[in-house]
Amino acid sequence: ATAPAMLDLKGDFPGLAGDWAYLDTAATAQKPQAVIDAIARCYGPDYATVHRGVYERSATMTLRFEEARARVARFIGAADPNEVVFVRGATEGINLVANSWGQRLKPGDRILISALEHHSNIVPWQMLCERAGAMLDVAPITGDGRIDEAALIAMIRPETRLVSIAHVSNVLGGTADVRRIADAAHAAGALLLVDGCQAAPRLALDMAALGCDFYVFSGHKLYGPTGIGVLWARADLLDSMPPWQGGGAMIETVTFERTSYAPPPGRFEAGTPHIEGVIGLAAAIDYVEAIGLERIHAHEAALVRQARSALQGINSLTLHGPDDSAGILSFSMQGVHPHDIGTILDEAGVAIRAGHHCAQPLMHILGVPATARASFGLYSSPRDVQRLVEGLARVSRIFGVK
Ligand code: PMP
Repeated sequence: ATAPAMLDLKGDFPGLAGDWAYLDTAATAQKPQAVIDAIARCYGPDYATVHRGVYERSATMTLRFEEARARVARFIGAADPNEVVFVRGATEGINLVANSWGQRLKPGDRILISALEHHSNIVPWQMLCERAGAMLDVAPITGDGRIDEAALIAMIRPETRLVSIAHVSNVLGGTADVRRIADAAHAAGALLLVDGCQAAPRLALDMAALGCDFYVFSGHKLYGPTGIGVLWARADLLDSMPPWQGGGAMIETVTFERTSYAPPPGRFEAGTPHIEGVIGLAAAIDYVEAIGLERIHAHEAALVRQARSALQGINSLTLHGPDDSAGILSFSMQGVHPHDIGTILDEAGVAIRAGHHCAQPLMHILGVPATARASFGLYSSPRDVQRLVEGLARVSRIFGVK
């Protein structure tokens, strides 16, 4: 069988103009012109507030805002648009759950995460555990850099109230079997939160099939605007959760004696929302879905395979993470600090990330202070990979390592 044609979409992305290779999409994705145009229209001829105006412009904007919520719901296979809460990003989504759902935690309760989590899926739970007198458990990773799912499942105890894991690791690129973990969590009476930051841009999502209870992701990694993200939760769960921020838009009635709260999702969206963020996110979803997540995933997987096989030739290079990592490739070079790799690659017009990737505990487990990370998007090309490989060959020559 002939390999499917690679995507060729750089022309849609003004941020990619010029002679360089942008390999930091896992940090944030470049924006297609369609998203930029949608934001410009929103701030231009369409602009008005939502939910409160009695005039037509505001009513139209409200309609489009709520259509965007329905668009997100369809994108992730949510049963109802009201299960979609707009937040600032994955970080705020997790903090919302920790501060709202987390109020029901009691001393002795436990929360279980994995060793490869982003700081945003560690620190809010530490803060909650400290407040509630609960304990944080951490499941190990496998030798090839995935969540050790068997070990994680074995660590779910009767006191475990929540399991919280990354769907796709932002450092190592492995994909977790969410359904398997959801079933195990539920069998023990625990809930499952999934951090879908790196999954939403490259996997077709279906909340019903995944079987989790909470799912969060950020718009800016999905080719959409910064400052907007999604918390999805089952309707009955959201219904049972108290608000975490008070203000306008989240209320039903207010007196000085007592306030009653709006039903979800409004209860969790205090204040004037990020209107153009929501509109831009819907445009990004339209863009991504028109290409198709299966094609995007296959495209990025082919680039990772190309990179892995070409980099095998550099002996001093260690490739971290599983062979089938999803669009993300972390590596170390013997005797060369990742920041030096990043600087030399930058001189060669290749932009990668060097650092701890907001996963300091994972760096500790890998036994490195930091890694270099190349990450791909739907616009990345075989030429980008070639530039990375040539750049790394140059790094090894400069440092005299083979
Ligand atoms: N989780 C993962 C796996 C991520 O990659 C990121 C972003 N690097 C986050 C959470 C946090 O996302 P944000 O900063 O957009 O809130």
